[in-house]
Amino acid sequence: MIEDKNQPKTSLGNLGEFGLIEHLTKNFDIKHSTTVKGIGDDAAVLDFNKKVLISTDLLVEGIHFDLSYMPLKHLGYKAIMVNLSDIYAMNATASQVTVSIAVSNRFPLEALEELYEGIYLAAKIYNIDVIGGDTTSSNKGLLISVTAIGEAEEDKICYRNGAKVNDLLVVTGDIGAAYMGLQVLEREKQVFKANPNNQPDLDQYNYLIERQLKPEARKDIPKLLADLEVQPTSMIDISDGLSSEIMHLCKQSEVGCNLFEEKIPLDPQLISVCEEFNIDSTTIALSGGEDYELLFTISQDDYPKIKANPNLTVIGHMTNASEGMHLITRGNEKVELKAQGWNALKNNEGE
Ligand code: ADP
Ligand code: MG
Repeated sequence: MIEDKNQPKTSLGNLGEFGLIEHLTKNFDIKHSTTVKGIGDDAAVLDFNKKVLISTDLLVEGIHFDLSYMPLKHLGYKAIMVNLSDIYAMNATASQVTVSIAVSNRFPLEALEELYEGIYLAAKIYNIDVIGGDTTSSNKGLLISVTAIGEAEEDKICYRNGAKVNDLLVVTGDIGAAYMGLQVLEREKQVFKANPNNQPDLDQYNYLIERQLKPEARKDIPKLLADLEVQPTSMIDISDGLSSEIMHLCKQSEVGCNLFEEKIPLDPQLISVCEEFNIDSTTIALSGGEDYELLFTISQDDYPKIKANPNLTVIGHMTNASEGMHLITRGNEKVELKAQGWNALKNNEGE
């Protein structure tokens, strides 16, 4: 994104709260018949015949994002994705979001316009109504809270606690890329700090960086599973890394698991960047975060329905809880899984 430093910036103070909200939300249209009233009154009004699902996330500058390499448009897009992913992870359809922001006066109007461009784009592509939110000031930095609302038939909703012994463990897409995208961006930030004239060539990392800056939630998967006539027994989205998400499914379902290292789907760019950084790609897949892929279990009887699908990879199976949770390495060693999310990985690296 190219920023024109000469363009005049509009101070938020000149607009007032109502002017600001109206300005930022003027393009939002209503797409769903379940939205009776969206932005503009004291509360939104919804009308559902089905079960309603609600999920909230709070993103804080300096904790969850760094604006020095995260363009605001991408941040807006990602804030929506993170929440939609939680709804899809229940095997449900997402239909509405609310967006609340707290913003310090160091941000001009143009910055918030960019943020809302990303939110608008996500809502358009994912067919979501933005039905409200709140806007306030903060002493320092930017906070964004999104609440996503979705719907599902009761018998389709998929919890974390339904996995059974002998069920197959399945993951969508590939994993680890978002974390290594962040490593590449952090390295370039240091290079840029040392020499601002240094123009990085990031072409060979484009997939990894896109996975970090512009993650896509797996809206397609609940539909795909319905088309394949597969009802997962348990499901979760991968925000923290494969290892800790598997452990959530196992603990809540009271089962164990064997995960096979050789089956974990990795993108070729991830493999080569791990070689460059001299990091084990399996460690990244297990402990890197923010892939927003889905992890679920299915009955073995459903295997024929999913085996030919390029979006889905069987990476293991569930066992008795007494057998524990293990990674079976390429060398056929059995290693206990550790609950190490990407934050832990960061701490280990002393960052
Ligand atoms: P109230 O004073 O009742 O909280 P507001 O003036 O904050 O009302 O909000 C007016 C309308 O604009 C409401 O429908 C609210 O949901 C919506 N709104 C406020 N802030 C945002 C935002 N950041 N994004 C989207 N909608 C918002
Ligand atoms: Mg308000």
